[in-house]
Amino acid sequence: MMGRTMLNDRLRADSDHKAKILIVDDEKINIDILDGLLKPFYKTVVAKDGSQALKRLEKPPLPDLILLDVVMPGMDGYEVCRRVKNNLLTREIPIIFVTGQAEERHEALGFQVGAVDYISKPLSPLITLARVKNHVELKRRGDMLEQMAVLDALTGIANRRRFNEFLEYEWERSLRYRHPLSLILMDIDFFKRYNDHFGHAKGDECLVKVARAIAEAMPRTVDLACRYGGEEFACILPETHVDGAGIVAHRILANCRNLHLPHPRSDAGELVTLSLGTSTLIPAHDVCREDLIEMADRALYWAKNHGRNQVGQYSSGGA
Ligand code: GH3
Ligand code: MG
Ligand code: MG
Repeated sequence: MMGRTMLNDRLRADSDHKAKILIVDDEKINIDILDGLLKPFYKTVVAKDGSQALKRLEKPPLPDLILLDVVMPGMDGYEVCRRVKNNLLTREIPIIFVTGQAEERHEALGFQVGAVDYISKPLSPLITLARVKNHVELKRRGDMLEQMAVLDALTGIANRRRFNEFLEYEWERSLRYRHPLSLILMDIDFFKRYNDHFGHAKGDECLVKVARAIAEAMPRTVDLACRYGGEEFACILPETHVDGAGIVAHRILANCRNLHLPHPRSDAGELVTLSLGTSTLIPAHDVCREDLIEMADRALYWAKNHGRNQVGQYSSGGA
């Protein structure tokens, strides 16, 4: 059996970046016990009934785990669980029921409404800590995988998959609200020669720096910067007119220049540079997302063919 001290050591190792746990119980004594047990290792937040619990989940930071009492006056634990699982923003938070009703049908109902586990009262401190630790770890692993699936491994910015999802979502939103939507496609100039001259490893370093320069040119949290492929990048700018897209594109150009990365074999200058193409549309039913990409591609092609290290712009429909 794992000793208490060993478990405590493992838990303490986690507490540098403490996971957040929401404890929901209508009885103060139960809250005190759980809070006392978990506080040394986790950041705890308490709620004394269902509606207070839901209120705590309205704004971030969201908890990594919820310990939920089943029997509470007003809204019971099952109902709280159902609502948490029905909300897109909270559905991934694991819920452990804490209950004195050890009956099989109650446990079954708990799992049915989306709980990941059960802890029965009276609480065993060792078992409670072990279960909480397991589920916090699983949640963290899940979060990490979710992040990895949408991030580019080299540069750490969004990947092409995220780009596609984001564009689809923003296209629909812009269509509904008749907002303009802008896209920037960009491509590093003479990057093959950069690799040939400095080697692939330095080429990778260059991509990481350029990605950061691009991301830093876009302070709005609603915008997305991604690695589109190879040495190509893309930005999606919701609710942005052609002028706004031009401003962001020129800021990217300037940020890239300010990296001062020498490129002795470029014909576009002495430093690493980019060519950019922007496109802007007000989405409508007679155009599609591919049109937006196609327009940005054409604008980029124009920039490449007119000396590189510059911005080409394309807009249609009064956007
Ligand atoms: P242009 O100015 O016309 O864009 O010329 P270019 O040389 O940049 O374009 P080209 O498409 O001919 O070459 C792209 C180069 O980008 C070739 C490829 O080896 C390099 N590249 C693509 N992905 C990576 C990567 O992940 N790491 C490194 N180091 N190089 C990459
Ligand atoms: Mg290319
Ligand atoms: Mg290139």
